[in-house]
Amino acid sequence: MNAPLHYRIWPKDPAAHLFEVTLTVENPAHDGQIFTMPAWTPGSYMVRDYAKHIVSIRAESDGLSLALTKLDKSRWQAAPADRPVTVIAEIYAYDESVRGAHLDTAHAYFNGPCVFLSVFGQEDMPCELEIVAPNEPHGAGWRVATSMRRMQAEPYEHGVYAADNYDELIDHPVEIGQLSIGEFEVNGIPHAIAIRGKTRADMARLCRDLQTLCTEHMSMLGAPKDFDRYLFLLYAPGSGYGGLEHRWSSSLVCARDSLPRRGESEVSDGYRTFLGLASHEYFHCWNVKRLKPAAFTPYDLQSESHTELLWVFEGITSYYDKLVLARCGLISVQSYLELLGQTITRVLRGGGRHLQSVAESSFDAWTKFYKQDANASNAIVSYYAKGSLIALSLDLKLREETDDRVSLDDVMQECWSRWGQSGKGMPEDGFEFVCAEVAGLDLSDFFAAAVRGTGELPLQPLLARHGIAYHLRQSNGKADKGGKAGKAKKKNKVWVGATLTQRNSKAVFSVVMNGGPAELAGIAPGDVAVALDGLALTTSNWSRRLATYQDGDRLDLLVFRGDELISTEICLAAAPVDTCYLEMIDDADVSVQSRLAAWLQR
Ligand SMILES: [Zn+2]
Repeated sequence: MNAPLHYRIWPKDPAAHLFEVTLTVENPAHDGQIFTMPAWTPGSYMVRDYAKHIVSIRAESDGLSLALTKLDKSRWQAAPADRPVTVIAEIYAYDESVRGAHLDTAHAYFNGPCVFLSVFGQEDMPCELEIVAPNEPHGAGWRVATSMRRMQAEPYEHGVYAADNYDELIDHPVEIGQLSIGEFEVNGIPHAIAIRGKTRADMARLCRDLQTLCTEHMSMLGAPKDFDRYLFLLYAPGSGYGGLEHRWSSSLVCARDSLPRRGESEVSDGYRTFLGLASHEYFHCWNVKRLKPAAFTPYDLQSESHTELLWVFEGITSYYDKLVLARCGLISVQSYLELLGQTITRVLRGGGRHLQSVAESSFDAWTKFYKQDANASNAIVSYYAKGSLIALSLDLKLREETDDRVSLDDVMQECWSRWGQSGKGMPEDGFEFVCAEVAGLDLSDFFAAAVRGTGELPLQPLLARHGIAYHLRQSNGKADKGGKAGKAKKKNKVWVGATLTQRNSKAVFSVVMNGGPAELAGIAPGDVAVALDGLALTTSNWSRRLATYQDGDRLDLLVFRGDELISTEICLAAAPVDTCYLEMIDDADVSVQSRLAAWLQR
């Protein structure tokens, strides 16, 4: 053992989903070493109290048992000892999300904060991690994928890995199992993708496309000085979606069928979603993992860390994740405009944007965005979706008002050199200050309205001056995400202002929109639909039934609330014009066309 802190993780009982994690401290505190389990994981802004997964914990020193006292929900203190102290914990791991830990007989995955205790007062000390294989018969053919530095381990094998400190130790998720691995380089820096799950994906194409994507990202802000490797960890089950960013890796989940099969060359909607996810997490290498809000510098992993800037870190990342796909040619301009139209549609369909600003949504992410209930769409605006539209508006505004001298790229470069490369946190007013400084513009009204206000963004005029026409229409039903012109329907569609969802074989009103016909009729979330206008109402006949009525029609509606039958009358309204699609303006003049080209081609 070389490092002052030695961690060891062993899939002790894969069938029971139990890891054994031991931690040996060479020089424990004289008055009794304190150990702490994080309450949350960077990038996922909700207190999850990972200590709750510890099923047993004990300490020893020199081979003898040592008293370990629990101080609160996530801290323990060992009795004073002159010799090294070891803590041994058994941790239940059955959370199959990118931020969790999961162990079964097929694989092992862990995100550091779920399994590693920190050593109070020694958070800056170097750590080594010994990753041990499970006992037979488990673990046959298992390989290890992590961006953690190898010390005594062959590539993709069990052995000893190293991290400079605790913060780095928990920033390298580890996937262990039967993996498909592809490798490529980006500007000479080794990159890899490791896929878990039965996949027949075209690995050569995945590597080629990821290389194109990563090269484009790197051309914007340059490789961070400590960026000497990168790993995409991908789990591809039948369905699912998610991602979590880290400094040298990311954990991704996407549906197996989203990945390209050998022999295919087009970009399916699913593959575009996967590329967008990879693009998003990779841009986080800069934006949020190294360029961070001051509130995260350093992270306080015991309690909520509030900042109004999540829209900068998630919204701007959500803007570039799609834009970069178009800039590097992985998707067409048409396809990019479709994605933008879908994002605009998502924002327009949420009434919460009239009540909550993105600054408030950022600040309250811990208790609102991450803890959504049936009222979420009425009360919450997404700092991802609206944040990305603020980034779009800002980018187009800067380009227009500076005659293409300054863009959002320049602002991000300045933020990066000021706070990213230095590792200093961005102050709460930092982003707006840099924008104004780089552009030489007074942007205070724009930020007051877009970031701290709840009005609509000036997207239509800004897009028009970049050669893009902004259209709105009614929705064509549940599957209509926007982004496309859609089929022209003669008749005005009607609207109930509620979502009907299949739950336990019942049609349940899951979301009831503020001010909509359902709310006015007294319908509440959780009500079970029984009949409309005297006929049974189901999730499968819902759209077809509604198509037979006109706005203003008054219909009898029967629902169960609990076991009580409620009879009411609903007055159908005209469907809102909340579905956006964008088109290039064919006859835009040359200056507009060149502005469009500059925006999409850098
Ligand atoms: Zn993100």
